[in-house]
Amino acid sequence: MRTRAVVTGAGGFIGHHLVRYLKAETYWVRGVDVKPPEYQETDADEFQLLDLRVRDNCLAATHGVDEVYQLAADMGGIGYITKYHADVARNNVLINAHLLDTACENEAQRYFYASSACVYPMYRQQNPDVTPLREEDAYPADPEEGYGWEKLYAEKLCQYFDEEGRIETRVARFHNIYGPLGTYDGGREKAPAAVARKVALAEDGGAIEVWGDGSQTRSFTYVDDCVEGIHRIMRSGHSGPLNLGSNVLISIDGLVDLVCAIAGKRLTKVHDLSQPQGVRGRNSDNARAREVLGWQPSTSLEDGLTVTYRWIESELRQKARIPKLRIA
Ligand code: NAD
Repeated sequence: MRTRAVVTGAGGFIGHHLVRYLKAETYWVRGVDVKPPEYQETDADEFQLLDLRVRDNCLAATHGVDEVYQLAADMGGIGYITKYHADVARNNVLINAHLLDTACENEAQRYFYASSACVYPMYRQQNPDVTPLREEDAYPADPEEGYGWEKLYAEKLCQYFDEEGRIETRVARFHNIYGPLGTYDGGREKAPAAVARKVALAEDGGAIEVWGDGSQTRSFTYVDDCVEGIHRIMRSGHSGPLNLGSNVLISIDGLVDLVCAIAGKRLTKVHDLSQPQGVRGRNSDNARAREVLGWQPSTSLEDGLTVTYRWIESELRQKARIPKLRIA
């Protein structure tokens, strides 16, 4: 018998990649989202368009499956999550509470929850040269307003349901996942996609706008490493949260330089200090993921960004936002 899974948020970036991964692992997969995937057909056996803030829709989504992979969320990059605290927190608390509850009602065996590095306290992330964050560093809590508080609470919900024997839960804290087929425009895009779009659109020798002073640091994780890690977490016996992230720290200016090198362009950075830039520094400590899962990301930032840049560039060409390549 094939394992039956539902991936919620399957119309989104990581969910879409996860569906493809699970299909390759011979799963039967139902994808659920409020929208179909934007850039490529889904590989799911069945795709349902459902608003998961509504309990009855969660009941339909989790019907007849062994495993639930919960990736649906109202979210976006730093501009989006700092602007819409009320909507983000309200929508996500409804999705997470109803999905967990209905997964139990439908007697699913395991539940994966996609949490975030945004649960880590602001007071541990005030320096660009930040100490990598260990799972236990999430407390005493002082997460990102709105989005981070909701993620932390949803982690707790998973913990309580697991402890009381209602359903086995698994939790990953993602650190800046990037790759092809992710949003790169419109306000919800994250730093790597936004930088790649800006570089692709800029004329060689021109300027690029960078949010903040550019010395804020992050680590970035390629989506293929992420979905492989999700699957390992789901198979593991570990119910506490685990970091899924890279521990290679880079400043936002460094990220811009790297994408410029990939594109073969020289651009002058113009820093916009009026835009949100998030915490000063954030890095992932992967000791526990290595110990529990034997997992660490295998894709270098250069390789992952090259694939991502080429994909965004080709999208912009198809949409005629940059000129078509001339073949000599
Ligand atoms: P995404 O925005 O591409 O995907 C989320 C999907 O959820 C979207 O397709 C959206 O339509 C769907 N959704 C939102 N509200 C819904 C609703 N009411 N009903 C049904 N579907 C709804 O984001 P992503 O980058 O693929 O992120 C997936 C998960 O990973 C999210 O839970 C996110 O919070 C988490 N995460 C992502 C990152 C990252 O770097 N991408 C980092 C930390 C955590």
